[in-house]
Amino acid sequence: MKLKTQWAHFPYRKRLDQFEFSFQPSIDEKKIRELASLAFLERKENVILLGPPGVGKTHLAIALGVEAIVSGFSVYFVTLQDLLAQLIKAREENRLKERMALLTKPKLLILDEIGYLGLDAFGATCLFQLVSDRYEHGSMILTSNKSYGDWGTIFQDNVIATAILDRLLHHSTTINIKGESYRLKEKRKAGVLPKPGTS
Ligand code: ADP
Ligand code: MG
Repeated sequence: MKLKTQWAHFPYRKRLDQFEFSFQPSIDEKKIRELASLAFLERKENVILLGPPGVGKTHLAIALGVEAIVSGFSVYFVTLQDLLAQLIKAREENRLKERMALLTKPKLLILDEIGYLGLDAFGATCLFQLVSDRYEHGSMILTSNKSYGDWGTIFQDNVIATAILDRLLHHSTTINIKGESYRLKEKRKAGVLPKPGTS
């Protein structure tokens, strides 16, 4: 596909039809298909994909992002870690305001991997501002390995975590994925790892 997907900075390119729903029964396929209709983008709602590593959060986020691009929406994909590096650099170069303003532009902002990295006060404040600026203006898709109850520890501040979640979740869909890592499936098949439930 040649459709300007490089602008979105996807780490890899995956479509929805490459996703095996049968492998991840905790995901309601109907809900994902409904999201792929992009009504959530028109309504400026958010999508949050939660679950342990390897269950398909990034795959689904990219697949929805590709649908959005195909339909002519602007999309920007970034991991929280890369975003923070960009913002720290922008602060050093005295152009933090411009950088933050740029992040409100895409119709869809995909923020991947919230939770692997703890945030300091600067990171937490920037994320709060980003979520506030985009609130009811443009959709976000976020992925996290941590449940909402643990977001306080990511931001090392329960007050700011609550404020971020309050805005994020007001108009949103949460997809809670509970299941096995797809990456480990291949290894199990090859006999490198034991089957779950055996030791
Ligand atoms: P994470 O939840 O950690 O973001 P990813 O979405 O990156 O996991 O998935 C890891 C790898 O496994 C990717 O290459 C992805 O395309 C693949 N994958 C995960 N779940 C599925 C699935 N149900 N069907 C097909 N491929 C999958
Ligand atoms: Mg991921």
